[in-house]
Amino acid sequence: MPDKRDYYEILGVSKSASDTELKKAYRKMAIKYHPDHNPDDKEAEAKFKEVNEAYEVLSDSQKRAQYDQFGHAAFEQGGAGGGYYGQGFDMGDLGDIFGSMFGFGGFSGSSRKSGPRRGNDINVNIQLAFEEAAFGCTKEIAVSIFDECETCHGTGAKAGSHAESCPRCNGTGQERFVQQSMFGAVTSVRTCSQCHGTGKIIKDPCTTCHGTGKVKKTKKYEVNIPKGIDNGQTIRLANKGEIGENGGGYGDLLVTVYVQPDRVFVRKGFDVYCDVPITFVQAALGGEIVIKTIDGEQKHTIKPGTQPETVVTLRGVGIPNLRNPKVRGNQIVTLKIKIPTDMSERQKDLLRQFFKEEEPKTQENKNASEDKKSFSEKMKDLFKE
Ligand SMILES: [Zn+2]
Ligand SMILES: [Zn+2]
Repeated sequence: MPDKRDYYEILGVSKSASDTELKKAYRKMAIKYHPDHNPDDKEAEAKFKEVNEAYEVLSDSQKRAQYDQFGHAAFEQGGAGGGYYGQGFDMGDLGDIFGSMFGFGGFSGSSRKSGPRRGNDINVNIQLAFEEAAFGCTKEIAVSIFDECETCHGTGAKAGSHAESCPRCNGTGQERFVQQSMFGAVTSVRTCSQCHGTGKIIKDPCTTCHGTGKVKKTKKYEVNIPKGIDNGQTIRLANKGEIGENGGGYGDLLVTVYVQPDRVFVRKGFDVYCDVPITFVQAALGGEIVIKTIDGEQKHTIKPGTQPETVVTLRGVGIPNLRNPKVRGNQIVTLKIKIPTDMSERQKDLLRQFFKEEEPKTQENKNASEDKKSFSEKMKDLFKE
């Protein structure tokens, strides 16, 4: 945010301006910059917002005291938690604000902030290795969040002082007002515009939290990552988020996991996919091979004459099911036949001899159907890949 202008300067009043002077100055400015009088004028729109923000703070004795003491910093500290200064303000609200301003003296009685409000949920991302997601683990995370100010224990009042009962609503947090309607005078109740429903006014704000009652803290948590969690899934830690307003309780901490890809395994649901290379001799003659699983290595026997891209399913060695970790997925192995590229002369001779022995068979099969390829043709196909 660029340097913010002084609120008194924005409204063109002195620091000692009375409430009446403030209101007068505000009305003058608000009319001058109101979007209805300045259609499509971005500068006027910005000014209008600025004027509203300044008035919202200065018309409220508590916020004015905070501002006088700490300047704009007073609201930057608690701004993220409070979120009612300028933020959340859009042009659609202008009609209401303008109406209430003339109707009932000051729009700061907007109902946006009233009574207990639950704290914000906080989102954090963590990275997990493939195995950590498969078998679960414990991760320590650190989050920077708003929590109760220890200096004032969340009251917002300086040590030795305390929040006073709001004079406008006598501490009830609600104010009654009479509205003239076509049916006569109607009494309504709304959230107190001075204390925003808290029933309290802080005259002497706590210097640690600038009167907001909360400060940013770095908190460490141990997160238990359950077996079988997958990329993009979220773990909710109840009440480990930010502190609320007016005793509204804590929000939650939402931990979303990102699982790093593995060099060997690809996960789909609770199944694990991988390719295993075998030699063309192993494919032809069969034999025992070693397959890497997420538990370690496992021996597997392949049949003589195993074809390229043969799929082998190893049951129950996949990822533990998140809901029932005793049940595990499968491992789906695709056998990839490796063709040697660095044969010795002797190996080449042996292969040539092998082909010669295959020749008569090839003649026999000459009239056989296309899908019954001879071994030598299969070998040639392999070399092409
Ligand atoms: Zn404090
Ligand atoms: Zn009040």
